Amino acid sequence: MANSVNTPTFAAILMKPIQEIFPLLQQPRKVVITTHQKPDPDAMGSSLGLYHFLIQWGHEVTVISPTNWATWLNWMPGANQVLDYEFQRDKCNQVLDQADWLFCLDFNIFSRAKNLSPKLYQLKCTRVLIDHHQQPDTPNFEYGSSNTSKSSTCEMIYDFIMESGNHDKINTAIAECLYAGVMADTGSFRFPAASAGVHKMVADLKGIGLQHTKVHENIYDNFLENRLRFIGHVLLHRMEVYYEFNTALIAISKKDLLRYQVKTGDTEGLVNYPLSIQGIKLAALVIDRDEERKWSFRSKGDFDTNSFARKYFEGGGHYNASGGRSSDSLDKNIEQFMIAMKENESMLQE
Ligand code: 5GP
Ligand code: MN
Repeated sequence: MANSVNTPTFAAILMKPIQEIFPLLQQPRKVVITTHQKPDPDAMGSSLGLYHFLIQWGHEVTVISPTNWATWLNWMPGANQVLDYEFQRDKCNQVLDQADWLFCLDFNIFSRAKNLSPKLYQLKCTRVLIDHHQQPDTPNFEYGSSNTSKSSTCEMIYDFIMESGNHDKINTAIAECLYAGVMADTGSFRFPAASAGVHKMVADLKGIGLQHTKVHENIYDNFLENRLRFIGHVLLHRMEVYYEFNTALIAISKKDLLRYQVKTGDTEGLVNYPLSIQGIKLAALVIDRDEERKWSFRSKGDFDTNSFARKYFEGGGHYNASGGRSSDSLDKNIEQFMIAMKENESMLQE
């Protein structure tokens, strides 16, 4: 998610510019594309968008996801070819060991690839980063493009294709994948990161034959009834609003997840609801997952959720959208959040 325009990083100085790989595209290679755990539309869309571009050059391309993903992403062209590292580990390791190039998309540090992370550190192949998160781990990449002012990694893949002079290779599969990520990461074009460049890109994709309504429906009108019932339950019973801090917190227990048979992707977007309350500046969501407590933070205006997530919840992300984690119990996490909220009182009350 990117809902604010942040200052560009200086990461590009440390990695060789991505433009240097353009001449190398000519020679067919074994390529692996990977992204962050539980890929969202930007992660999956950028990976598959790049996949559909690279296969046109005769490269042997495999997309590996560190974990499973929401079933409502399966409409994306090529999604049925994506390997899940948690379920197909041997096959994935084999492909990774033979790779000439590794593209890491929509994440800034290997740890965001969960169980796949140790393997990524071991690989000897050429590692390329394309990402829009803050503080990228540049020493681990030979080539890269890291730009926090970009709306999405999908926009960066579009730039990559355009700058390499290959506009003619953008087909409807690429257009659908890239549009999905840009749409999702800009909150359907409402966040400041939806720049003139983003709208020009969309206009271009429309010209190529993109059916944008289909993409919206595939992503936003593709849930089961239980997901809507779950949201109703959560907003009624699990949301606390602290008006004196302009903050709202939603805490979801394991019992809630089981009762409503919540699946991967069902909680996507939930953290945005409290921000629609007048005056709310910070919205937080914590979910009691099996292995950890997972946090999401969203803010409006000048509250830096990236620093907040880094300081209190082992996380990070963007200025107005970030996430984190903790091994402590759900109750302990809520306590920790209350302390953090009070410590940030002056920023939240402005
Ligand atoms: P979400 O709340 O949608 O899971 O994540 C929002 C943003 O924060 C995304 O851009 C994501 O990459 C980042 N993010 C989420 N969880 C973590 C985390 O545990 N660590 C870091 N560094 N970033 C995270
Ligand atoms: Mn993204």
